[in-house]
Parts: sequence; structure tokens; C-alpha cells
Amino acid sequence: MTSPATPDSPTPAPAPGPPPRLPSPLEEVGDRRFERYGVRLVLKRDDLIHPELIGNKWRKLTPNLEAAAGRPLVTFGGAYSNHLRATAAAGRLLGLPTLGVVRGQELADRPLNPSLARCAADGMRLHFVDRSTYRHKTDPGTLAAILRATGSEDAYVVPEGGSNALAVRGCVALGEELRDADGIDVAALACGTGGTLAGTAAGLGPGRRALGVPVLRGGFLDADVTALQKAAFGARRGTWSLDDRFHFGGYARTTPELDSFAEDFEQRHGLPVERLYVAKLLYGLVALAGEGAFPRGTTVAAVITGAPFPAAGAGT
Ligand SMILES: *Cc1c(COP(=O)(O)O)cnc(C)c1O
Repeated sequence: MTSPATPDSPTPAPAPGPPPRLPSPLEEVGDRRFERYGVRLVLKRDDLIHPELIGNKWRKLTPNLEAAAGRPLVTFGGAYSNHLRATAAAGRLLGLPTLGVVRGQELADRPLNPSLARCAADGMRLHFVDRSTYRHKTDPGTLAAILRATGSEDAYVVPEGGSNALAVRGCVALGEELRDADGIDVAALACGTGGTLAGTAAGLGPGRRALGVPVLRGGFLDADVTALQKAAFGARRGTWSLDDRFHFGGYARTTPELDSFAEDFEQRHGLPVERLYVAKLLYGLVALAGEGAFPRGTTVAAVITGAPFPAAGAGT
């Protein structure tokens, strides 16, 4: 565990903590499950950008931290949200108060799970709301009531998962990094709100495509990604598609098969596999390669959008 950094000036820097590692590294992986079909797999290690604003959270949050201009942050998430933890860490690094609105009133009476405990340890105030309120959190009346109830009327509101137009534009650079790396045909990533896909697809440029693997059930993501691209760019951008077959029952759901797949991938390639998103992406890519979905000679970049929590060996 790193100790809290003290900002050296009263003006919060837009990029907190150590300088980001950008462009994020690209790693070759030799994996027979792809090579057999003439497909080359590379890992785009966004998980190495920053030790605390991990992966796509750095790309999405930093433009919002700049826009917040030192105001307290309010944001939203479920009990295992990577976005809540990243926002809490950003608040600690920048010395900004943060409030997390958490889905599930019933959680208020239970001990905090490790993810929420991490948020609280980083100084995030947690405000639990029932599922119906949570569902309506973007309605102006509901949002105003939440802000009033928590004394957050002057706060900067970051939407659930951190996906807004600024975040989407922040992810364009991910697509551009892949465009500028030689020979990548497909950028594949796991999707929650779809903000990362929306931005990445826009940055890829012609001749390349983005493939999203939603980890939530419901088939709503096509519309959401389109709406995010319209908000960020005024229109749909780039070539992208979704494959809805690899959510394993929904957000934070898993199966013994997925668990053993992730463990095996870690052993083969020494990559710590984040379980909510990255495991489902990698599983989906192996399945797609096996189906012959990628023509021979295709290079697929799997974006490693995050790292496991708690970190392997962290002992918490
Ligand atoms: C938040 C997160 C995502 C989802 O990003 P969206 O922009 O919401 O689609 C994917 N992978 C990891 C590891 C994440 O933490």
C-alpha cells in the first residue's frame, strides 16, 4: 500500500500521482489457441499506465479531474466498482473530497466489502441508495435530491463508470496508440458502460476495427455507445461491433469455467487477469479465434483495461 501523496500545490494537478506510462506498453504473447489459426495476439497493457488510476480509469478520469477544477467529486457505482476505487484514489492523490453513491441500500447495514473498504480508506464518503433511486440517478430531480441529501450541491458529478463526453474523448488516445503501433487490425476490449469502446473506436482510424465484449447482460450497449459517440463527437465514429455472448450471467458473475480459464491464462502468460472484465474479454477472444472469426494474418490487440483487486500478493 502506498502512503497518501500530499499535493505540493493548492491547485490540484489534473493528473494525480506519478506520471502516467504512456503510450501504454504493447506485449507479444505466444498462445497456441491463436497461432493455430494464424492469428497474432498482443496485449495492450493499459493496466500499467498508473498504479492507482488503473487502466482505462486513468484515461477517463483525468479529463474530468481537470474539468472539476478542484471541486469535490460525486460519482456512482456498484459494490465492486473499479471506477469508485479509482475516483477515491484520485481524490486522495489530489486532496479532493469524494462521495460515492453506491447501489444497494441494504449494504449500508453490512460490513464494507474489500472494494468499498478501499474507497473508504481513500477518504471517499459512501452514500447508499436503494436500487430504484439508483436506476433513476440521472433524472434531474433524483440527482438533485441525492446532492442535497449529501450536501454536495457544489460538487462535480462524474456519471456511473465515469463515462461522459470528456471520458470518451480521453479514450481516443488509446485508439490512436493502437493505430500508430504497426499492424494492428482489431482492438478488443471488455465493456461496462461502453465509454472506452466509444473513444477507442474513434481513434483507430480507417482499416482497423474495435470489438467490444459487454460484461453486463441486456443488449443495451449498442445504443449507449452510439449515444456516447454522439455526445463526444456529434456522430458515430469508427468501425465497431459488440459480441454479447461472453457476459457469464452479468456484472461480477462468474462460473468455474471462467475462473479456471483466468487462472490458466495467468499461468501461461504471467499476466494478472482482472476478473470482472478482462477475464471475459480474453475468454471471448479465445472462443472467437476457435470459431475462425479472425481471418489468418489478423493481429488482435486485447486491451488489458485493468488489474485484479486486491492486487495479487497484496494481502488485503
Ligand atoms: C471500468 C472498466 C471497464 C469498462 O469500461 P467502460 O468504459 O465502462 O466500458 C473495462 N475493464 C476494466 C478493467 C474496468 O475497470
